[in-house]
Amino acid sequence: MKTVKLDIAKGYDDPAVVSFIDSFFSRHAGRLEEAGTILLKPNLLLAAPPERGITTHPLFVEAVINVLRKYTKSELILGDSPGANFGKYETVLNKTGMADLCAKHRIKTVRMEASAPKMKNGRVYAPAADKADIIINIAKLKTHSLTGLTLCVKNMFGLVPGNAKVGYHRAHPNDRELAYNIYDFFSMFEGRVLNLLDGIIAHEGDGPSRGKPVHLGIMAASDDAVALDTAVTRLLGLDEDFCLTTLGAKRKGYDTSDIKADKPDGQLGIKIPVSKRVPILPDFLKSWVSDRIFVKPFIISEKCIKCRLCVKSCPVDAIRSDDEFLIEPEKCIECFCCHEVCESDAVGMRRSFLHKVFVR
Ligand code: SF4
Ligand code: SF4
Repeated sequence: MKTVKLDIAKGYDDPAVVSFIDSFFSRHAGRLEEAGTILLKPNLLLAAPPERGITTHPLFVEAVINVLRKYTKSELILGDSPGANFGKYETVLNKTGMADLCAKHRIKTVRMEASAPKMKNGRVYAPAADKADIIINIAKLKTHSLTGLTLCVKNMFGLVPGNAKVGYHRAHPNDRELAYNIYDFFSMFEGRVLNLLDGIIAHEGDGPSRGKPVHLGIMAASDDAVALDTAVTRLLGLDEDFCLTTLGAKRKGYDTSDIKADKPDGQLGIKIPVSKRVPILPDFLKSWVSDRIFVKPFIISEKCIKCRLCVKSCPVDAIRSDDEFLIEPEKCIECFCCHEVCESDAVGMRRSFLHKVFVR
């Protein structure tokens, strides 16, 4: 039986947050006490303030740190590899509130690109992962335009340093293939990971960064990331396969039928990305319209500050950066990385005519 702790909190200052984390860590007290180094792995996708719900909230991470201190004297380090802006890591740490938090608690921050990457099973990862006896995976609950949701399995993809993430997109342009590979990447570290999910302020709509913050008030914890992701997906009222990394785990034989989760009262909902909405069509129309129903990114030139983050993140060089930045539709594989990394909200989503007609 795989177990998942789920609970609700009114806000980050609700005492329920600390007691929830404490009750989870108390089950792992021995491991935590013995650990020499613990890596805290929040979601630091980009330089955004906590209230946008794009990154793990610093008050949630602070609660984790405070409770951890009760169980262990081990060295704590904190790190992630942001999207295309990994070169400006300090800016990301400052904006997300992690710089102040780490200074206050005397925690060293690590940049995943700071040392030469390591390789295992043909996959590149940051050496910080190997230095840690335990990785505390502190994910953010968000929708994701490519993988459906980004929860605990997906959060570990931040251990892929810098531009190597673009290589994954290039090698696996299909959303499912990419998600399957993200699961395979995650499974290299699985035994050393304790997972927590910050869904108090979540992110819905065109996530993981261009949607809207939403107060869901949920927290989840488990030593099994796939079980946690599955339980949360169900709680959101979605089919468990909507989270494509879960589908990746099932493809490798993971059984979701024996997951036991505490269930907070009621069913929660979340707005899903426009790219993931499916048309309801009679069978005879499906093949005719399938190529005509699509969502393509485009650059809003009035908002574009020509920072080139989208260019760096594009796995197929589909973005021209002449006088004006433009996406070449025939090259674009609709991975939405440009949409994800643009910090100026200058990448829009253009829906085809039939998408507008059939997809609500
Ligand atoms: S579209 Fe966004 S990410 Fe790309 S150059 Fe313009 S501002 Fe930068
Ligand atoms: S233009 Fe944007 S959506 Fe298209 S392939 Fe490049 S990064 Fe992906």
